[in-house]
Amino acid sequence: MSKRKESCSFCGRNDLPMFEGKNDAYICLDCIEHGHSIIASENKRIEATKSSNSEFSLNRLPKPQQIKTFLDQYVIGQDEAKRYLSVAVYNHYKRLALAQGVDVPKGAEAYKDVEIEKSNIIMVGPTGTGKTLIARTIAKMLTVPFTIVDATVLTEAGYVGEDVESLLTRLYQEADCDLKKTERGIVFIDEIDKIARKSDNPSITRDVSGEGVQQALLKLLEGSVVNVPPKGGRKHPEQEFVHINTQNILFICGGAFDGIERKIAQRLNTQVVGFEASKKAQVIDKDNLLQYIAPQDLKSYGLIPEIIGRLPILTYLHPLDRASLRSILTEPKNAITRQYQKLLALDGVELIFEEEALDYIVDKAIEYKLGARGLRSLTETVMMDLMYEIPTQRTDRFVVTRKLAEEKIGRADTTRIQKTI
Ligand code: ADP
Repeated sequence: MSKRKESCSFCGRNDLPMFEGKNDAYICLDCIEHGHSIIASENKRIEATKSSNSEFSLNRLPKPQQIKTFLDQYVIGQDEAKRYLSVAVYNHYKRLALAQGVDVPKGAEAYKDVEIEKSNIIMVGPTGTGKTLIARTIAKMLTVPFTIVDATVLTEAGYVGEDVESLLTRLYQEADCDLKKTERGIVFIDEIDKIARKSDNPSITRDVSGEGVQQALLKLLEGSVVNVPPKGGRKHPEQEFVHINTQNILFICGGAFDGIERKIAQRLNTQVVGFEASKKAQVIDKDNLLQYIAPQDLKSYGLIPEIIGRLPILTYLHPLDRASLRSILTEPKNAITRQYQKLLALDGVELIFEEEALDYIVDKAIEYKLGARGLRSLTETVMMDLMYEIPTQRTDRFVVTRKLAEEKIGRADTTRIQKTI
């Protein structure tokens, strides 16, 4: 290091220690430090870009079986829907990886010009069988933004309700207003059956006939650039918009499609008329017609063919039988009984549910046709007073017996329980 009072060739100062270069060039310690900090921050930026790219590197993606195993911890049964969703989410990640230009294995290079189309999904199943739960659970393990919207609030532009673009506003907000992240997110549209076209629609204030909404939704499903008000609300001309490209946004739709079994039965009946009719009729399981659902049934129900075409993966959920309801009470990681056990464990109390008490709760859920949602309300009915009393009792163990469950549920107003779910 030179001690001579030469001036820095970069900043001109001469009061600092200098490094001397060739041809009378000098650099002071200050400028060296400044240069160092520029290099460090540039390195940081490069590292960050690398790691956000490798988030989607092919060999680090969660595989369908891993996604399904994760779902199994929270969702009882519904194997087919869980498998379909797992594959769809995996493929979604693959598309994102390709869009980011990750390295592909040698064998895949030959398919460079093949474009993988988006596989939006539609799940059909009775209410309370786990459609939203599957979607929510998948969201837990995802590293992409995810939002759930209810199709019943959507209306055609100009009507009372929300514009279809509002679902992208929610996704944008979920992605902390990061456009890039938004454009690779997943949107779950619940109650899609409520926007099916119905001919007998008397409403004039609101587009409940659904066709206009379906047309608007189609634009998003197809993949287009949509002007979205970043803070939501109605569009108006002076507003600033973000331009969101929906090309890589995955849409998952769910709906109960009440009464669609009739359409399925009609189709199956017409199909089985004629040659081999008796043979085919024998194998049809009439108690669970939903398993035969096909795109044309969605069309008969009132979804427009273009929408159906954009939801190429169609899967169904089973009605929950007694055994499933019983498992739901105790097995999922977030099972309602476990939640109460945790709450009371915080008071130092071990909470035990007698098998017979749980059987009784399931019996009542079936008797009152409350389904899985009813399990929660019934368990809450049993637990409400206890949660009030136990923390002040000097006890470290409490057993919920069948007798106790009978007493609490017997005293409760079941019509009120029915209304709350
Ligand atoms: P929907 O099919 O109407 O979307 P949800 O997924 O909202 O039904 O289910 C309602 C509640 O019932 C869930 O929050 C969960 O507690 C329970 N539930 C429903 N189906 C299942 C299932 N297959 N496994 C575990 N819990 C379930």
